[in-house]
Amino acid sequence: MKTPKQIERVCDYCGGKQKFKFRGNFEAEPESKFWYACQKCKHVVLISIEELNLQQNANAQKNYRVYSANETYEIGEIIYHEEWQDYGKVKKKEISSSGYNIIVVEFEKLGPKRLVESFKQ
Ligand SMILES: [Zn+2]
Repeated sequence: MKTPKQIERVCDYCGGKQKFKFRGNFEAEPESKFWYACQKCKHVVLISIEELNLQQNANAQKNYRVYSANETYEIGEIIYHEEWQDYGKVKKKEISSSGYNIIVVEFEKLGPKRLVESFKQ
C-alpha cells in the first residue's frame, strides 16, 4: 500500500480535526505502522495501516475516473488525480486561448484547478 503524504484525523493532543504529515515508517513494524505529525501542535503519533485503509475508503468516491489528459470528461463527473492524490468534480468546460480543451475541476483538497482534456499529440 502507498502511504498517503497527508491525512486528516482528530488530534488527541490539540483536539479537533487536523492535518497530519507522513514522517516515516515505524522502525519495529515498518509495514503496518507509520509516524504522522500533527501540523498544528507538531505531536508525532503512530498510525496503523487499518486506520489508513479506513481513511482511504472514506475518501474514495464510488464512480470516478483517473484523470488523463487524453480523455474527455463530462460536467459533474468525479475524477481522481493520481499525482495530486485528490478527487475532484468537473465544474466547467472551456477552450484555452491556445485552443486546448480545458476542464475546470473543483478538487477536495486543492480547490479549483484547470486541466487539459481531449489532448491529441
Ligand atoms: Zn495536534
